[in-house]
Amino acid sequence: MSVKSIRIAHLFPELLNLYADQGNLAVLSLRARARGFRVEVVPIKLREPIDYRQIDLIMLGGGSDREQRVVSEALAGYAQDLRRAIDDGLPVLAVCGGYQLLGHSYELPSGEILPGLQALDLVTKAGTSRLIGNIAIELPETLKLARSTVVGFENHIGRTEHSHQALGRVLAGHGNNGVDHAEGIFVKRVVGTYIHGPLLPKNPHLADLLLTYARAYRGDDGTLEILDDTMEWQAHDQMLARLNVARKE
Ligand code: GLN
Repeated sequence: MSVKSIRIAHLFPELLNLYADQGNLAVLSLRARARGFRVEVVPIKLREPIDYRQIDLIMLGGGSDREQRVVSEALAGYAQDLRRAIDDGLPVLAVCGGYQLLGHSYELPSGEILPGLQALDLVTKAGTSRLIGNIAIELPETLKLARSTVVGFENHIGRTEHSHQALGRVLAGHGNNGVDHAEGIFVKRVVGTYIHGPLLPKNPHLADLLLTYARAYRGDDGTLEILDDTMEWQAHDQMLARLNVARKE
């Protein structure tokens, strides 16, 4: 019997690694292993090639403006293939700086414009203050997951605008730009978000969505075995309570 495997490409971990986003990888790996999958996390350093035949999911973490500038300089070499892979349904989790870099550009506070991967129709421009704090959002109704809320922490100066579906509607906190109540992006199998926390430990439903996508990308549409997430939901509900957001199923 062959053990099924899930291979996660972690892009540019030496640069995009802000606010413990590594925790997202730990959660994906643990939850996949608990279901009997072999998990391989493949670190892809900046300027190293990505072998798309060998990966089922991409993780792109957050970074400071300084690190984003370094990454941005090398993105042109990745743009075309990554766009094609996303169009083919490759799942991506992109957090904060990584989320910004999926778009057309990120304009720094100095006015300098960092080109992005142009994979999604989104634009980011630095504001005059940072958007910081705990955040709760409500996912689109069409995503019938165990819970409809996602909780976490955000800290960004970038304001993002886009024409795609948002990952959620802001219930408490700032989201994409602090103005239109949209948070993140959800298009094809790409989940982009400003939510660190790290994101997945308190949002196991989102972790399982990404794992389900990774399997679907390889043509496996089986359902994932249910895990005991009592502690995870306690942590999730505590965040909702702290933000005075009513629990929603
Ligand atoms: N440098 C970006 C901003 O402040 C992203 C920061 C982050 O990844 N947390 O908007």
